[in-house]
Amino acid sequence: NRGWTLARRPTGEPNVEDFSLQAVPLNPQVMEGQVLVRNRLLSLDPYMRWRMNDAKSYARPVDIGQVMVGATVGEVLDSKHPAFKPGDSVLGGGGWQEYAVLPGEHLQRLVGNVPPSTALGVLGSPGFTAYAGLIKIGMPKPGQTVVVGAATGPVGSMVGQLAKLAGCRTVAIAGGRAKCELAKTMFGFDAAIDHREPRLSELLTEACPKGIDIYFENIGGKVWDAVLPLLNDFARVPVCGLVSQYNEDASYEGETRLALLMRDILVKRLTLRGFIVTDFAQYRDEFLEMAAPLVASGEIAHLEDIVDGLEAAPDAFIGLLQGKNKGKLIVRLG
Ligand code: NDP
Repeated sequence: NRGWTLARRPTGEPNVEDFSLQAVPLNPQVMEGQVLVRNRLLSLDPYMRWRMNDAKSYARPVDIGQVMVGATVGEVLDSKHPAFKPGDSVLGGGGWQEYAVLPGEHLQRLVGNVPPSTALGVLGSPGFTAYAGLIKIGMPKPGQTVVVGAATGPVGSMVGQLAKLAGCRTVAIAGGRAKCELAKTMFGFDAAIDHREPRLSELLTEACPKGIDIYFENIGGKVWDAVLPLLNDFARVPVCGLVSQYNEDASYEGETRLALLMRDILVKRLTLRGFIVTDFAQYRDEFLEMAAPLVASGEIAHLEDIVDGLEAAPDAFIGLLQGKNKGKLIVRLG
């Protein structure tokens, strides 16, 4: 069993040398309740960057020498759990390695009728994150304006499409002209703005003539700075991610406007709510019932960026934090 372990903690942007490809021992004895899985697909996600830091957060950091964490789709090879048998396809947290022994209670069966990879993207944690944040916190109403960043990624593209289904005007923030086009043509956004544009604030103001009712926060930093003045009274901000800040060890160097923010929260009666998708676990079945048929019929579009081979994982992950991925980034193993 080969796997990528964390070799050292990165400073700023991660580097290939922060990871080490090694033989990772697996307990050959599958114990009662456990399942041996051969990992076929590995999900690469922005949160993994935070797990590389030795900092207190909602989840434990990866230890030096430990296999990098990650969601996987795999095939059951051996099972001592009554719900699974050899040959089953399962979703679990197998990590950056070829095989994993996992507790059966942490595994999920895949939804039928759709490719297995969708369990890591549009119908997996990213798609459900979009649903939980937009529907349960954002509470979109017809005619309202919804803005979301990383808009061609698995979270942002789902936010845009769910908001459109709810009758909203949707505005994408994405990196570069090609992704902005994609946001409009593939995911139906009404407008798309490149966050690298020096005129970001002006362009966003033009794209949101009636202000912003929901800002689904994936990015942080300068995009948040451009959004804040445009928020309407009673706007909702599901704070989902801050990808522009994940590589930063020092604090944000932009203008600090905490006092202004507090004033806006009061005067505009804003709701800002940070969330982790697992907070909404009770709505997962509701989400799948709604989204799986729409994904199967193609009414909800999704884009996957599949790279081949376990060896490619660190480079692909580093690229994700630079916006090089086009859609849900997945590594196909062996
Ligand atoms: P993506 O696959 O979209 O990948 C991340 C994208 O972020 C990049 O492609 C890039 O898109 C964008 N990005 C990277 N750096 C910057 C930057 N400096 N400024 C602006 N954009 C940047 O990611 P996901 O859809 O998987 O995740 C989106 C967000 O949701 C992340 O913040 C993630 O951490 C968060 N998340 C939160 C969860 C929760 O439970 N709270 C669960 C899952 C995800 P582009 O090229 O368009 O700029």
